[in-house]
Amino acid sequence: MSDRRYLVKEMFGPTLQGEGAHAGRAVVFLRFAACNLACPGCDTDFDPQGAVRMGASDIVARLYALDTGHARRVVVTGGEPTLQWDAPLSAAIRGAGFRVHMESNGTRAPEGAVDWLTISPKPQHHPAGLPLADAAQPDELKVVVDDTVTEAVLDGFAARYRCEHYFLQPWMMDGAYENNLARTIALIHARPRWRLSLQQHKIINVP
Ligand code: SF4
Repeated sequence: MSDRRYLVKEMFGPTLQGEGAHAGRAVVFLRFAACNLACPGCDTDFDPQGAVRMGASDIVARLYALDTGHARRVVVTGGEPTLQWDAPLSAAIRGAGFRVHMESNGTRAPEGAVDWLTISPKPQHHPAGLPLADAAQPDELKVVVDDTVTEAVLDGFAARYRCEHYFLQPWMMDGAYENNLARTIALIHARPRWRLSLQQHKIINVP
């Protein structure tokens, strides 16, 4: 096992996955610190300030302790989790019996194996010269809808990413939720390959 220490912002659970094709499933969460984007209105605390360094065996032990229902499914997120995810940590967590669901912004392909990859692309917020990663191919695509997302934007994503699940999720944090929801519904009617994803954890008030 590697002696690398990973910068972990928080681990919590058991809770329910709130978004996408696995919404409603019992999971635990592993949130890494740090992100390579700075999207306006981001509501996630990934600040390295207050994060802790943990080795792979520490992380696995904590996952076991959190996973009281033995669901053995961990959502790995951030920040941007691919900044830290690597083959030794993947081997440790998957070898301990957990299915790994990663949520990435798609700018990097995960270096270690995952069992389910969600990409939520936000190219409108990329710094100059940071492309989406060609090698990052998702199981599900989740586009957060604000007034920059159009039918043409969706067509571009659908052409770029071939996967089974395409989700649209109204952006909640820009003060325009009602407009974003209406836009989301209109986009689904215009492009019915896409389905609605709501942040169910916020609706039922679980972390
Ligand atoms: S990629 Fe995600 S975590 Fe990073 S700044 Fe954007 S919304 Fe926040």
